[in-house]
Amino acid sequence: MGRIAIVTGGTRGIGEAICVRLKEHGRTVIASYGGNDAAAQDFTERTGIATQKWDVGDHEQCQDAVAKIATDHGEVDILVNNAGITRDATLMKMTYEQWEEVLRVDLSGCFSMAKAAFPKMRERGWGRIVNVGSVNGQSGQIGQVNYAAAKSGIHGFTKSLAAEGARYGVTANAIAPGYIATDMLATIPDTVMEKIVAQIPMGRLGEPGEIARGVEFLTSDNAGWITGSTLSINGGMHMY
Ligand code: NDP
Repeated sequence: MGRIAIVTGGTRGIGEAICVRLKEHGRTVIASYGGNDAAAQDFTERTGIATQKWDVGDHEQCQDAVAKIATDHGEVDILVNNAGITRDATLMKMTYEQWEEVLRVDLSGCFSMAKAAFPKMRERGWGRIVNVGSVNGQSGQIGQVNYAAAKSGIHGFTKSLAAEGARYGVTANAIAPGYIATDMLATIPDTVMEKIVAQIPMGRLGEPGEIARGVEFLTSDNAGWITGSTLSINGGMHMY
């Protein structure tokens, strides 16, 4: 049996592509999701990959989920913290609830999942953690003080965790995707999308598979001396 990998938010979009890629490369993959049962069922029918539902924004649920996966499949070798949400509004209009929900799911979710999976990785002397940040965590974006703060926090979280895992064979890296064609972009009006694409040097949105290839590499044996890094996959945005 291959190494055991959890991909949070693995049933749709970028997460789905990550799950498929990791499976193709011999990992045993468990995809988590938050609530969309129909999408999860379709995903399993398409890919043959097991799913498990829990809220990454709930600390206890994360501990219970990782314990159950360890019992059902084996100890977790690879954790991909991919689940994320947006609740966009300018600061003038953003409610505290919108702020808190995005921080809880996008940033605290990474803490809760690492808290559950890291100790056994450390004990067993091998582990890979990849946290999915965002180009907007690097640059900031109008209407996203919550999301940019959470994603920017992921980059500091990753470096600190990398320092703690380095002597134990556990790496932690971040991937910062640029704009990728998934459901997450569905709420952005066409006129805004045109302006966004015009700012991408490659002149197009990214595909989920282009992020998945980066995750597969960072979670492989070949990436054993890479830790605390952020891999920007964004068609050239913010390269200057
Ligand atoms: P999608 O909206 O397409 O999919 C999100 C996934 O996360 C779904 O599987 C969803 O489950 C799951 N999820 C959402 N909330 C929770 C929760 N509380 N607990 C568990 N799972 C949850 O997102 P993308 O594929 O576009 O994005 C994936 C990651 O990439 C995110 O972290 C996002 O911030 C980041 N990213 C995306 C970019 C883009 O342009 N798309 C750009 C930069 C970064 P369910 O189906 O049940 O809702």
